[in-house]
Amino acid sequence: MIACLERFVHDNDAESKPDDDVSSIGKSLDLQGSIESGGKTGIAGKDFGGLYSVRPLALIKPSGAEDIARVVKASSLTSHLTVAARGNGHSINGQAMADGGLVIDMRSTEENHFKFLRVNGSPYIDVSGGALWEDVLTRCVSTFGLAPRSWTDYLSLTVGGTLSNAGVSGQAFRYGPQTSNVTELEVVTGKGEISVCSETQNPELFFGVLGGLGQFGIITRARVKLQLAPDMVRWIRVVYSEFEDFTRDAEFLVTQKEGESFDYVEGFVFANNDDQVNGWSSVPLGPDQEFDPAHIPQTAGSVLYCLEVAFHYRNSDHPSTVDTAVSRLLGRLGFVRGLKFQVDVSYVEFLLRVKRAEEHAKANGIWDSPHPWLNLFVSKSDIVEFDRTVFKGMLKDGIGGPMLIYPLLRSKWDNRTSVALPGGEIFYIVALLRFVPKGPSVEKLVAQNHEIVQWCIKQGLGFKLYLPHYQSNEDWKRHFGNQWTRFVERKARFDPMAILAPGQKIFKRTHHNLN
Ligand code: FAD
Repeated sequence: MIACLERFVHDNDAESKPDDDVSSIGKSLDLQGSIESGGKTGIAGKDFGGLYSVRPLALIKPSGAEDIARVVKASSLTSHLTVAARGNGHSINGQAMADGGLVIDMRSTEENHFKFLRVNGSPYIDVSGGALWEDVLTRCVSTFGLAPRSWTDYLSLTVGGTLSNAGVSGQAFRYGPQTSNVTELEVVTGKGEISVCSETQNPELFFGVLGGLGQFGIITRARVKLQLAPDMVRWIRVVYSEFEDFTRDAEFLVTQKEGESFDYVEGFVFANNDDQVNGWSSVPLGPDQEFDPAHIPQTAGSVLYCLEVAFHYRNSDHPSTVDTAVSRLLGRLGFVRGLKFQVDVSYVEFLLRVKRAEEHAKANGIWDSPHPWLNLFVSKSDIVEFDRTVFKGMLKDGIGGPMLIYPLLRSKWDNRTSVALPGGEIFYIVALLRFVPKGPSVEKLVAQNHEIVQWCIKQGLGFKLYLPHYQSNEDWKRHFGNQWTRFVERKARFDPMAILAPGQKIFKRTHHNLN
């Protein structure tokens, strides 16, 4: 088997690869699933970012953890093969790629495991690491009337892909990121071992893998906490002209007890002009709603802020009860009167809201164009400075896509996971989600992202990249700060030859153990 892999690696240096070789590897690995040669044009060499493309050796469609373990073990016996789990390839900077390596298509395992269970009376769902969150949602709601508690904005992402980062949306202020909402994982480590882990069983692996950027193991199963799914959501947007008012209200809402706040809190920056993408028209929630700029105070600057909130309710709730509860919550906020928009939608429709934006963007041809995105966590203590320089300065004309900003609470995150966060209890997620046509402007936008990050470093801002992307060891060390030693120790323990997730560019594949 190994001889066959080594020959395959060697032969792959030549330009083309006969499919026979691929199938002979498949046979020698004795896979239940399948293997395809990884041409540059296949899914394995591309991602949503559209900024990088590489040529993997092969794309493997495993049937489950055993297949994945076989592939990892076989790779460990070669001199330089790497293995990348590919969720849905919605990374921006090639994080799910393996140049010359083996890419595991986790989607081929998406049907595995789907199983409802109760632990100490509380409901959970076991799902595959390759399942899409949108399928978890629709199946949990339609079959059990239950749903996970913490989401991402967009749900065509895999369970393993978001758990390897954090998984953040407008519910995270209450329940923490998705990494705070799983209690057990099945993982294939970089040694090719299949391990079940949790807070009490193999805790170092469990917490290492959560937010671990795919470095310590491939998640093949996750146990996700569930709660009763509401029927309906009142989805509301209100506008602010002053950043201080916006942050005061957003921070107020995320620090209130359940029942004293909304069920979802997010926000975004938009341009104070009639730009079709980033201007006034990006705020209304329905085609019959109009943004009347006459309401904007004279003192407003080049950008405005929108607080986006949602209130859950049941079909059986009397409309006046919902109206009263929402009015009470909104009554405490200091937004610009006259600039409030709301719609009532089903819970599932609300959670699938970005899917509709995707359909729209696909129709306009911008979904498949490059996405030089930048995501950061910025400390509350530095967010005013960030707003002044970045939003009001560098990006005042918009970015050709949403500019999200909303507060999160550090106490809802578990320090034992591998995620790197800035200091302080309150920090903001900032997401610059650029949709741009292919062309020279893409390089300029990548350069602008770089400029923002360099400015944050130079100013000594309390910040971390979310979905981080660095090329040098120095940058990764700085990113992890005092967690770096733990990160390296975990790597040495669970993936000592640095086989896994080479696209993150943190560790170099080695022949010898890292420790
Ligand atoms: P991939 O891009 O395929 O993989 C990401 C990394 O995880 C790679 O290193 C890969 O090797 C590794 N990996 C994949 N599967 C596994 C596994 N099973 N086990 C171990 N490692 C694995 N993020 C948020 O937090 N909140 C949002 O609201 C949000 N919205 C988004 C909206 C859009 C339109 C897009 C494109 C992305 C968004 N993201 C958001 C970012 C998203 O969470 C990450 O890019 C995530 O990695 C994508 O999941 P994926 O399944 O496509 O993973």
